[in-house]
Amino acid sequence: MVEAEPLRVVSAPSYIWRTVNKYAVEILPDACIDCGICAQVCPYDVYEMKPGLVHISAPKSSNCIGPHNCEGQSFFCVDNCPTDAIRVGENAYYEDLGDDRWPADLITSTWYMSETGQLPPPGIESRIGDSGGGFDRLHFVFPEDPEPVEEVDTSLDLNRRPWGPRIRTPIPIYGAAMSYGSVSLNVMLSRIRAAKAWGTFCSTGEGGYPEALIPYADHVITQVATGLFGVSEASIQRAPIVEIKYAQGAKPGLGGHLLADKNTPDVARIREAVEKTSLFSPFPFHSVYSVEDHKKHVDWLRSVNPDALISVKVSTPVDVDMVAVGSYYAGTNILNLDGGYGGTGAAPDIAKKNIAMPIEFAIPKVHRFLEGEGIRDEIVLMASGGLRTAYDVAKAIALGADGCVIGTAELVALNCTRCGNCERGRGCQHGIATTDPELVPLIPADFGAQRIYNMYHAWRLQWVDLLTRLGLESFRDLRGRYDLLRYEGAIL
Ligand code: SF4
Ligand code: SF4
Repeated sequence: MVEAEPLRVVSAPSYIWRTVNKYAVEILPDACIDCGICAQVCPYDVYEMKPGLVHISAPKSSNCIGPHNCEGQSFFCVDNCPTDAIRVGENAYYEDLGDDRWPADLITSTWYMSETGQLPPPGIESRIGDSGGGFDRLHFVFPEDPEPVEEVDTSLDLNRRPWGPRIRTPIPIYGAAMSYGSVSLNVMLSRIRAAKAWGTFCSTGEGGYPEALIPYADHVITQVATGLFGVSEASIQRAPIVEIKYAQGAKPGLGGHLLADKNTPDVARIREAVEKTSLFSPFPFHSVYSVEDHKKHVDWLRSVNPDALISVKVSTPVDVDMVAVGSYYAGTNILNLDGGYGGTGAAPDIAKKNIAMPIEFAIPKVHRFLEGEGIRDEIVLMASGGLRTAYDVAKAIALGADGCVIGTAELVALNCTRCGNCERGRGCQHGIATTDPELVPLIPADFGAQRIYNMYHAWRLQWVDLLTRLGLESFRDLRGRYDLLRYEGAIL
């Protein structure tokens, strides 16, 4: 187990969540007699009669769990108001937030979990989106009489080879690659501090290894990608895990692309490039066209750092099972399958949705093939590319993955609204996917780390509940249990 900092949930309110509400609560001023009954009965603190004041305060609509969850209950404010002064309904603008994969409920439930470390109130969906396919139609089948479980283990072993360091993380995830340049240094620090607090890892992405991450080196995965930006012997030698990126599921065949706008002097210095120029990572690695070439890459990294685990990130072409086997024989410890729904708003939609195989298909295809080859238990299969929730992670494991790599959800924890303006220097109004010196301070690293830490605390609550209801003691018992999943509904 890698070293973790003491874990503690602390409230981390954002300036956004409390202004985006699913339900709208209104008090009709002409009807209200300021009796204060609503403040006494509502258990969700929607109403408040401040001490010393004679008027009821404006209702906090963001606390409301929705009339359908309160109707018929003794505390329902509308029924308790003696003058029929309360109106509760849907907020007409709520659905404008997000998209089908990340609908408003998933975004606001993630914000809630990031603020509180707890599960959102009933009425806000925190498990699935509205995409109409894939994970959004896969559901767990809970046994009526599950085996009793004394203690749930959510840990993940990252090395299944008989040799090399033993690394176990307490939760079955680590942070996805996001480069300095694509996101700010504060965002990188937020993510790595949260990873350290959870005893897990976070990847630098392909933009080099900023010095500010060195104090967290035991939790940093360093990436070697086609552009070789900022790759050095020192950065490889200090990393417990080195990740070779052959392709990204959001844009396979395209490589990375950082627009000149975001290439500040500091980004250029870390990347050993020229500032204010657009930076391209070519596709593919022009030194790798076969499994033998791939093995040379792995051997090269092992010769620089014999103690590092080697992870290989690939997208999901139709022959991804063959890629997986080749990667195993090349000596890798971790195979990261990256499906088509990840990436920030900088990845073109036409690529995201149309090139790589959906991760829901790729995981069982690779899992079964590796089992058939008799090598499944010596390689760790990590899934990424659009895994948004604790339930997505559990479903990926039930399909055959060992664990998952999380990217966008961590940005949503930091206030991302999924507006899709990530590629431009001043496009991200929330200070996340930017290197603009005026916008970066919007996400202080302490705040960001606490938000991501809190989100994973809430996710772990969901994982423990889910495994208990399935009668399983660990995620190792869930791997490849297709029988516990049901696909609902016809494909439209
Ligand atoms: S219960 Fe009705 S009348 Fe009394 S303070 Fe609340 S809204 Fe006003
Ligand atoms: S809020 Fe920022 S990080 Fe999120 S989609 Fe918009 S630009 Fe990208």
